[in-house]
Amino acid sequence: MFAKRFSDLRPYVPGEQPVDREYIKLNANENPYSPSPRVASALRDFDPDLLRLYPDPDANGLRDAIAEMAGPTVTRDMIFAGNGSDEVLSFVFFTFFDPDHPLLFPEHTYSFYPVYAGYYGIPFKKIPLRKDFSIDIEQLLAGKSSGVIFANPNAPTGIYLPLAQIKSLLDRYPADRVVVVDEAYIDFGGESAVSLLREYDNLVIIRTFSKSFCFAGARLGYVIANPALIRALFTTKNSFNHFPVDALTQRIGIAACEDSDYYLKVCETIGRTRDGFAETLRGAGWEVLPSMANFVFTRKKGLSGRTIYETLKAGGILVRYFDIPGITDFVRISIGKPDEMLRLVDAMKGV
Ligand code: PMP
Repeated sequence: MFAKRFSDLRPYVPGEQPVDREYIKLNANENPYSPSPRVASALRDFDPDLLRLYPDPDANGLRDAIAEMAGPTVTRDMIFAGNGSDEVLSFVFFTFFDPDHPLLFPEHTYSFYPVYAGYYGIPFKKIPLRKDFSIDIEQLLAGKSSGVIFANPNAPTGIYLPLAQIKSLLDRYPADRVVVVDEAYIDFGGESAVSLLREYDNLVIIRTFSKSFCFAGARLGYVIANPALIRALFTTKNSFNHFPVDALTQRIGIAACEDSDYYLKVCETIGRTRDGFAETLRGAGWEVLPSMANFVFTRKKGLSGRTIYETLKAGGILVRYFDIPGITDFVRISIGKPDEMLRLVDAMKGV
C-alpha cells in the first residue's frame, strides 16, 4: 500500500504543544509579544470576499514590502516567499543540492536539515562544532560538497558566526554551489549577510516571520538571493503548489513589514531579557552559551537535559532538550516575557 520511499522517512519532531494544562511555553522559540497593531487592524479590515479568489501566486505586493524592509540593495526579484521557512527550506534543498557529493552542515544545527536531506535523497556529512560549540568554517571547506547550510545564529546553540567568517567561507567555496545561511534568528542581535549578496551570487539567505515578527501561527518565510536563484525557486514552487502563501497571510505580512520599527523594539526587549536571564543563570552556576537568538542553551554540572526538562515541566514550564549525543546535558530555553523568566529562574533553583 505504501511507496518504498515512505518507509525511509524520519520526520522532524517540533517542540511539543500539550493541552493537558496551562504552561509557560518556552520550548519552540515563539515570540511572547503580540504582532504589530497594524497587523491587528489589517486582520479587522480584511475583506472576506477575497477568500473566494486564489491569491497572487507570485505574492508580488508582499515581496515588494519584504524587499523594501530588507534594505536599499534588495529588490522584489531577489525575494521568494513561502508557507513558513520550513517549506522554503524544502524548495531550497530540492533546487540546489545534488546527490553527487555530500551536503555539509554543522553537527549541531537545525535538526530539520537531515530530515530534508533524507526526503530528497541527498547524502550529507555533519561537521563537528569547535570545542566552544561555534561553527568551524575551515571544515566546511574540506573536500567536495554539493552545498553548505547552517543557521546563523545557530540553533540550538544560539551562537552567532561573524560576517567576516561567512565572507571568508564564500571567498573559498566553489561559486557554482550554494551556501545557505538560515537567518531565522538574525533579528535578535546578529548582523545579516544581506550585504554580501552583491558580491556572491551563490549565497542564499533564508528568513522567517515566525520568531522576530511574532507570526509563527501565520506561516510565512522567505529567501533573499540573486534573481537567477529566485527564478529557479519559482520553477520548483510551480511544480509543487502555485499558491503557498494565502491571501490573508500576504495581506497581514505586508502590514507587518510596514511596521518594522515595532519589531525592532520587540527584538531589543527580548535581547535585553535574554542577556539578563543568562547573567542570572551564570550567577547560579549554570553554563550558558553566548546567544544572539531568542533562546539560550544551558546546562549545569551533574544534571541531564532530560531531568531539567522533566522537573520544569512538572512545575508548569516547558523547555526543550535534545536526545542527541554531545548535547544531552543541555536544555534550550526560549526567551519569554520578564515575569515568565523570573518564574523560570525560581523553578530552576529547585532542579
Ligand atoms: N530555521 C530554523 C533555524 C528554525 O529554528 C526554525 C524553527 N523551527 C525554522 C527554520 C522554521 O521556521 P518556520 O517554518 O516557522 O518559518
